Amino acid sequence: MTVRIDESKVFEIIEAKRPSVVVVNAPGGLLRQTKNLMEQVREKYGVTCILAGDSCFGICDTVDDEVENLHADLALHIGHNATIKTVGDYTYLIDAVDDVKFDEVVDAAIPTLTTYKRIGLATFSQHLHQLAPVKRKLEQSGFDVRVGKQNNLMMEGQVFGCDFSTSQPLQDEVDAFVFLGESEFHSVGLALATSKPTFMLDPYMNTVTDMRAAAEERRKRAVLAVYKALDARVFGVVTGLKEGQRMLGRSTWISKKLESNGRKVVQIALRDVTPERLAPHREIEAFVQTACPRISIDGFTFDRPVLSIPQADALVALMEGRDIGEFLQRPKWIELTVGLVPR
Ligand code: SF4
Repeated sequence: MTVRIDESKVFEIIEAKRPSVVVVNAPGGLLRQTKNLMEQVREKYGVTCILAGDSCFGICDTVDDEVENLHADLALHIGHNATIKTVGDYTYLIDAVDDVKFDEVVDAAIPTLTTYKRIGLATFSQHLHQLAPVKRKLEQSGFDVRVGKQNNLMMEGQVFGCDFSTSQPLQDEVDAFVFLGESEFHSVGLALATSKPTFMLDPYMNTVTDMRAAAEERRKRAVLAVYKALDARVFGVVTGLKEGQRMLGRSTWISKKLESNGRKVVQIALRDVTPERLAPHREIEAFVQTACPRISIDGFTFDRPVLSIPQADALVALMEGRDIGEFLQRPKWIELTVGLVPR
């Protein structure tokens, strides 16, 4: 695997802005390349680079605030490509792309895919440039291939772990989705949000994985957590402090709904919502967290229900005597506030 960070963009920004101190952050998988880049920037321009070392999972993890906290001049957020190129007052989004090719794994997938005529194609940031060649290759094999339209945040065919708004509108136009890349995280999310058969094509191992069983397991756990939370009398409502996930309005709405249904609510703000951080709050019987929905959907280690926004909506529906419906089948599980948070 060779993931390349768009270094020329970084050099362009440094030359244009002439900063003294730069804050940098990147997901764990890109830390090695990111540290190399920091070294280059230090050597080439004499700029001090500070790695923001807190968890960085998605485009929601920008570090505009840290620029002020560290008296820096700008921030570089690496590896979460998007249609926007800057966030907040100081942050530049820097693309990273993976050179790996999909020819072999697409050949391996064709026998599995032949029962599906119409295919929706999706991927995450590092493989976006592979959508066009894979689309051509599948079309040459007789498939009708659709790619979701670009929107105000995501490129054509792109999905985030919480936002499927490019692909989800295709759910009635396709028979199955093909997800390019080795990411159970994204492909399970796509399967849950669309309820379509979804196949993950791993270009490193050349394997094709049907994600339906993994998605169904998470769906059942998500439903079970909602019903468990229904019995709770005391709730913790957690607002995330990460820049792209600050959903205070949603937390307030959910708190009011819980209180009007006779529950006691303690509002909490956290940067990282983990079992360790929630453990001291022993009096709380269930949590709703309005930060990253995947903390709840994939969080198998919590000792009490920890509901995401879609699950909280389902809980409120139950409390108000309505059907919970397919609450994960929606284009977005959270309205990311990337670039929208007023300073
Ligand atoms: S909120 Fe969305 S973008 Fe942020 S880490 Fe979670 S899934 Fe990824």
